[in-house]
Amino acid sequence: MNTGKTKYIVFLLYVFAFQQTLLWAQVKTKKAAPDNSNANTNPDYTGYYKKIESYIPDEYSPVKHIRVAVNIFTGPGTMQNTDSTRAAIKQMMLWLNGFYANVDSATYGIAGVPWIKDTKIRFDLDDRLYFYEGTKLYNTSSISVLEKHIAGVDPERLNNLNIYITDGGTAQPHAISPYPNFILQGHTGTHPSSLEGNVAVYISTLFPNYVNSQTLAHELGHALDLLHTYNRACCPETCNASDPEYLYDVFGPNPPADCYEQGRFGCTITPGENTCTNNMMGGNNMLYYYFSPMQIGKLHRALAIKSPRKYVKDDVFDNREYRIKKDETWNFDIRCYSPIVVEAGATLTVTGRILMPEQGEIIIKRGGRLIVDGGTITGAGKKWEGVKIKTSTTALERLFGNNDGLLEIKNDGVIDETTNKGH
Ligand SMILES: [Zn+2]
Repeated sequence: MNTGKTKYIVFLLYVFAFQQTLLWAQVKTKKAAPDNSNANTNPDYTGYYKKIESYIPDEYSPVKHIRVAVNIFTGPGTMQNTDSTRAAIKQMMLWLNGFYANVDSATYGIAGVPWIKDTKIRFDLDDRLYFYEGTKLYNTSSISVLEKHIAGVDPERLNNLNIYITDGGTAQPHAISPYPNFILQGHTGTHPSSLEGNVAVYISTLFPNYVNSQTLAHELGHALDLLHTYNRACCPETCNASDPEYLYDVFGPNPPADCYEQGRFGCTITPGENTCTNNMMGGNNMLYYYFSPMQIGKLHRALAIKSPRKYVKDDVFDNREYRIKKDETWNFDIRCYSPIVVEAGATLTVTGRILMPEQGEIIIKRGGRLIVDGGTITGAGKKWEGVKIKTSTTALERLFGNNDGLLEIKNDGVIDETTNKGH
């Protein structure tokens, strides 16, 4: 054995290991954090991925199923864990989903706005109906207190968009919810400023009825980022037509300073007037409700770039390819529902985080480039189909030079094809 040569190889290995350590130390400091806040001025983000219009579904879009759980805190005089309660909750969920599946036409329509008849969002209870007996919590309406309790019973229950029901010490149904809009503006307090923050809704009832399903449908609208179309105590949409968040298909192209519906709960609708409407985020008792295309887009945007996306079931998939045709930088954190194709001549640079659907893959076409520069690509669920690189297959293609698709991973970038690292 040539010991000189062996020593040399060992030396080389040391140098290699040392270099790797240096590289690793370097890239650690370079790894960028995704930014879904209003401070992100990346034109790819503000010009498309943050825009509500980019998320309006069409008739071929898949329905997004959201995992919800109903948590009932029982006590004297409240609902009890009985078959009739179970049947009533199931009925409430049916009515609730009916509002999201059967969108009514607008009583105050804006010219040229199409009528989207299905929001393509459903709330699935499955068998997640939980009762909490023998506590004093049937008398509270604090989501944070109730959430803490259910986490103590089973932390897995926080993986659902939770609906809390108590009698709240009052016979009046009411509800609160943390709006994702606030969460991403750095809202502190009970709900963390994070994509991992929990979203939940609360209603107060002694037995679920149709009105509760209306209230719940409205509150879940809040949970998915919608604000009020009337201006009452809290949380209206903007009337500023130059704000990208402005719902021009609700309030019209030239809004007055106070663009809101002025009608009170139970007001009388006059078709064609904005004083009182059938909008889901207004305050009316309706058989069916209207959501505008922009409102529906806002719901779906929340399921891509805001915290409620973590409740969408893993198997939601749109098999239509999403094509990257020009250079783009994704420095934000986005959950995708379709395959991504990087076309020839285009470079997709990922410094943020992409969550891919179970059946989704990323295809880099010949002449296309994917650069994972300190970013992360992983599955929204347990797995995804990974990255496929298109290479030259014929002599003719090779003759015109090496134009294979290119994947570059640098600065501690990660492509995680197997495991779920959270949402
Ligand atoms: Zn409300």
